[in-house]
Order: sequence, then C-alpha cells, then structure tokens
Amino acid sequence: MSEDWQKAMRQRIKTVPGWDVETSLPVGIPRHWLSLSQEDYLMCQRNKDGVPLDPLLAQALPSPQESLATKDEAVDPLGESRHRILPRVVHQYPSRLLVRATGECPLFCRYCFRRSLLKDQRSWLDRKSISSISSYISAHPEIREVLVSGGDPLTVSDDRLEELFTAIRRAGSAIVIRLCTRTPVCLPSRVTPGLVDLLHRSKPLKLILHINHPREISQEFILGLEAMQNAGLPIRSQSVLLKGINDRAETLAELFSSLSRLGVEPYYLFQGDLAAGTSHFRVPLSKGLELYRQLRQRLSGLELPRYALDAPEGGGKLYLPESVIGLEGKTWILEGPDGRRHRYPEET
Ligand code: SF4
Repeated sequence: MSEDWQKAMRQRIKTVPGWDVETSLPVGIPRHWLSLSQEDYLMCQRNKDGVPLDPLLAQALPSPQESLATKDEAVDPLGESRHRILPRVVHQYPSRLLVRATGECPLFCRYCFRRSLLKDQRSWLDRKSISSISSYISAHPEIREVLVSGGDPLTVSDDRLEELFTAIRRAGSAIVIRLCTRTPVCLPSRVTPGLVDLLHRSKPLKLILHINHPREISQEFILGLEAMQNAGLPIRSQSVLLKGINDRAETLAELFSSLSRLGVEPYYLFQGDLAAGTSHFRVPLSKGLELYRQLRQRLSGLELPRYALDAPEGGGKLYLPESVIGLEGKTWILEGPDGRRHRYPEET
C-alpha cells in the first residue's frame, strides 16, 4: 500500500466536463474508484435520463436527475435536525449519540441523504465542539455508543481523529465508538499502519463499512481489511439498495457472501431514503421486499444483513418485512416497535 492517501485525496476528479449539473452535492471521485469501473468515465454509456450504466460510475458521476426533487423528498429525510443537541451532534436514541464529524468524503455518493451537510459543513470539528461533545457525554451516562460519522471521518489525519476519540474516551471509558466509513473501500490507501494502530488503541471500537457492489471489493481493499482484522477490530458492513446498481438478488448475494467470507459481517441493507434529488436511485419497496425474500432463500444467517428503512421525518429505524402493515393505494403503512405508524411511498 504505497500510495500516499492525502495525495490521492487531492487528485480526485472534481469536475466532469459536459455534466456540470446544478446539484447540492459536490463531485469527488478517487482514481482508485475509476480503476474499478469498466468504462472511461468521460465517455461512459448513460441511460436515457443521463445516469451511467456502469454500477460504480452511476454512484459517482452526477446526472441531470439530481436536480429533480419529488413531492415526497426532503432536505433532511431522516429528520435528524429535530434531535440535534449541538450543531453537528444528534441524540435521537437514549443510548446512542451521533457525531457528524465532517462533511468531507473521499467519494461523494450521488444518492447520499446527508447532501445538505456535505455542501455546507465540509470542515472537521473544531476544538470547542469536541470539548462540548465530551461534556455532553459526561452529563449523559445513558450513552453507551457514539457513532462517529460524517461525511466520512477517515478523511482527516490520524492526529485529529485521535483528538476526538480521546475526548470521547475521557467522557466514558466503556463507550463503544462506532466508526462509519466508506474510505477503506473507495480510497484503500488511507488504511495505513498508523491508522490501524490508532483504531486498535481506541477500542472498544467497531467499524461499519459502507459498500454496495461486489466490484467494490478490490485487492487493495482486502489488504486494508486484513490489516484491520489482524488488529482485532470487529467489522460490519452496510449497503444501500440502489436502482440499476445492486437491485438484483445475484448481485446482492455475491456481495454479502463475499464480505462474509472475508470476515465482514453483513449488517444492514437500507431501503433508499427520501433525500431530495435521489428518486432515480430508489427501488420500489415492493421490489425490495421481493429481493429480500430471495436473499433469505439464498444466503445463510451469517451472510444475510437486516433489511431496514429509516422512517421519514425522524421516525427511527424500521426492520423489514416485519414492520410492514400493508399497502394503501400507493403508500406503504409501516409500524415501529413503539407502535407508531409511518408512511413510505411505493413510487416517488
Ligand atoms: S461516503 Fe457516506 S456521507 Fe459521504 S457521500 Fe457517500 S454516503 Fe454520503
């Protein structure tokens, strides 16, 4: 792993000539990501709506569809702002605190539901914010887990990451840090010996890798994965169900069985969120349920992730199919564990 990751970050593709779409999300594509696609990104085939056909390029290149928001979509589809207790911190569930540490990502995924944050708050947390987070955790002993997310937290230096981890540890020595990242997949050179050592020293720490397609499993990714596993880090995956990218049972089965074989526990398969300008990526829930039924037949319990949906407007996480009550016209009625009902459109 000789590539200098900071140089690789600087050398990302940031504009796509001829496709300067009016969008709320920046463009950022690592060269490594392009090396995994099967076409030249400048001349790739696109469908009639301008979305690339290659599943990796479709996740990375902007398309005119992004400027089309449907009536069901929202800027903050998960309603995180309702539970915001500090500018970058969300406390929705008593035992868990979400820290959106940065708005920077190695790859700006075109379906991202946090696109408004990524546009406006690219910087890393400042010292004062880190100190406020530490004080908040100290004052709330019910917090057992801190989700460090973003953007992607692995886009900063080890020193800055360590400063945050140390502050969390100071506030609660037994707190589990849940590090949510896509970087080891799309910029694997970031997994340096120094980073692995830091993650090891920050235990209890669990890594949640965001990965959507079997072709994202590269040799470089596997090397980084092995280094982290050798340091004893528990690693799980989360994936988003995406139209035209991974919405076939064969593709998902290959992804989850490969991850399981590599020692990564498939954790979540997410139904698409209602983020503005992402309807072209959303798979109808009826199709998602059918795909999941097929996956249950093909995969073992170790390979099968939970299929989940974040209920619109801060309704929390719902597991599928168990939360489904039924379909009313073109709207699904879902019920959470607290008995509250939620609505999710079949088509948007
Ligand atoms: S890495 Fe995560 S936060 Fe960043 S653009 Fe992709 S989905 Fe959004």
